[in-house]
Amino acid sequence: SIMKGSLTLPHRLQDQVAIVTGGGAGIGQGIAKTLAGAGAKVAIWDLDTAASKETVHKIETLGGRAVAFQADVTKAESIADAVNQTVSELGEPQILVNNAGFSRDRSFLEMSQEDWDSVLNVCLTSVFLVSQAVVARMIPSSYGRIINIASRASLGERKKANYSAAKAGVLGLTRAMSIELAPQGITVNAVSPGLIRTDRVMNMPTYADIDRRAKEHTPIKRPGEVSDIADCVLFLASPETGFISGEDIRVTGGRYSS
Ligand code: NAD
Repeated sequence: SIMKGSLTLPHRLQDQVAIVTGGGAGIGQGIAKTLAGAGAKVAIWDLDTAASKETVHKIETLGGRAVAFQADVTKAESIADAVNQTVSELGEPQILVNNAGFSRDRSFLEMSQEDWDSVLNVCLTSVFLVSQAVVARMIPSSYGRIINIASRASLGERKKANYSAAKAGVLGLTRAMSIELAPQGITVNAVSPGLIRTDRVMNMPTYADIDRRAKEHTPIKRPGEVSDIADCVLFLASPETGFISGEDIRVTGGRYSS
């Protein structure tokens, strides 16, 4: 470990390279800022280039280092390109945050296969594809930290059969990967957010009601903030947490049920 036998600041990521998928907005943007603040060079992978450039601009303004790469995390070819560009511009990655996600709510009986496939692809298949591509670049150094953003909805939520199944799948995939990748020095953990006040959530017409319900149903009586998730991800991304793997940390204000 770094600087054995001396006092150190924990959770420092100086000179490490971190990839954050879906880092152009919301929780991903917050994670990218926090990892950059800890000293990592951050590759922002997003479909939406304008959004990821905005994240890069915010990080640079704060004195950090980040680069935007266009990537569709559901497509192996696009992922391979993003890996190559990331490695040539920033170096080999030590940290991967699988954050890109998407939901399309529909009652179970009205859910089409397109509703199902699109959410499973962005929320679950992407974690498999991106992790497989990035792990290949972690193995030579026998070190890696993978953090998968799941959701409290993995417990099962109304009108979210597709999303609930995808996020429950992320937890199974996290545990399976954690076992297979342990010999390579790579830990794999999940973070399951409850309701988080992102710009997207706050722009929903029902937000006022959501805010009130969060206060009603959450033991810690407030909705979550992006920084609540980002700080948990920083912990799991750190060299100090190498004995934690296959875990799911719920960041839900103490709320257990769906
Ligand atoms: P968001 O919609 O605000 O941002 C998601 C980002 O992912 C966007 O920039 C989007 O362009 C990008 N993206 C979407 N599809 C992509 C693809 N195929 N390839 C590359 N990039 C793609 O989302 P958010 O609310 O910040 O959520 C982030 C993660 O947290 C998701 O996995 C979501 O399921 C999870 N989550 C969010 C909440 C919440 O309350 N906001 C709660 C639980 C879990």
